[in-house]
Amino acid sequence: MRFMEVCGTHTVAIFQSGLRPLLPEGITHLSGPGCPVCVTHESEVAAFLDLAGREGIILATFGDLMRVPGPKGRNLKLAQAEGARVEIVYSPVDALQLAAKNPGDTVVFLGVGFETTAPTVAGTVMMAKAQGLRNFKVLCFHKLVPPALRVLLDDPECAIDSFLLPGHVSTVLGLEPYQFVAGKYGTPGVITGFDPVDILESLLIMVEQRKSGDYRIVNQYRRAVADSGNARAREVMFGVFETADALWRGVGRIPESGLVFREDYASFDALQALGVTVQEAPPTPGCKCGEVLKGKMQPVDCPLFGKGCTPAKPVGPCMVSTEGSCAAYYKYSV
Ligand code: SF4
Repeated sequence: MRFMEVCGTHTVAIFQSGLRPLLPEGITHLSGPGCPVCVTHESEVAAFLDLAGREGIILATFGDLMRVPGPKGRNLKLAQAEGARVEIVYSPVDALQLAAKNPGDTVVFLGVGFETTAPTVAGTVMMAKAQGLRNFKVLCFHKLVPPALRVLLDDPECAIDSFLLPGHVSTVLGLEPYQFVAGKYGTPGVITGFDPVDILESLLIMVEQRKSGDYRIVNQYRRAVADSGNARAREVMFGVFETADALWRGVGRIPESGLVFREDYASFDALQALGVTVQEAPPTPGCKCGEVLKGKMQPVDCPLFGKGCTPAKPVGPCMVSTEGSCAAYYKYSV
């Protein structure tokens, strides 16, 4: 059984707990596209860098985006060293406060993350509107997990037999958006917590489903995830954003897998307000992140792994983020 986890926190939990070498023969672990930094496209990083170079702009970002390589290996850390105003924040509300303190500048928050993060960013945009803070903008590159699962299931080369579904994302989504995984594709999916016993129990559920042929989406993480998810979080997220096609690094354009601003909130959209264009940039030469994120290649099989590409000098985003599969393989198996 080839099972894929779709969450970077699961990747780390599986390695950190030492579960991976204990898996019996016949059970293969694959890491999926569940690390938001890893799937941030080269063109999106190019858009960050475009804004970083502009007069009167302060970029506010979570720290893990700082070293993600864009075209020609450039990143935000380098831009910051060259004089760009880039601030690391711990929440979008920190970015809003930065905007309040700097009325003469425009603060752009880099909106990267899945359904777990997007509601908090949407809520912050609502706060900005209520407070009349017009110098706060969001560069919205949020992505949605279920459409990416569909792409993996449609690709016979991925050959995924079951999914360990993301615990955090599911607190917002609940079970419903995953039903097609079991219903249409006959693939078990288990929403799972982050302790080793959670993962082991979920693997047992998957194996039992594969043996019985009774394919379902199961909520193993009941102590955190309601079957119906968080309706208020979804209401806030879809009150500010609507779905649109999005670019995923190494995967390409996935229909309806991203979020863009609704008309009512368009004045907070950095793309529209600041005239940023996202032009499809070519993939990073030599990097196999796309193959890794689709489960077609293990990180250790990338020719650059541990040689040209290490956490100290990453070539691709999967080696940058602590939740990236290449970084996890490097930390726990080299
Ligand atoms: Fe990309 Fe580095 Fe991972 Fe290879 S080892 S796939 S270059 S991030």
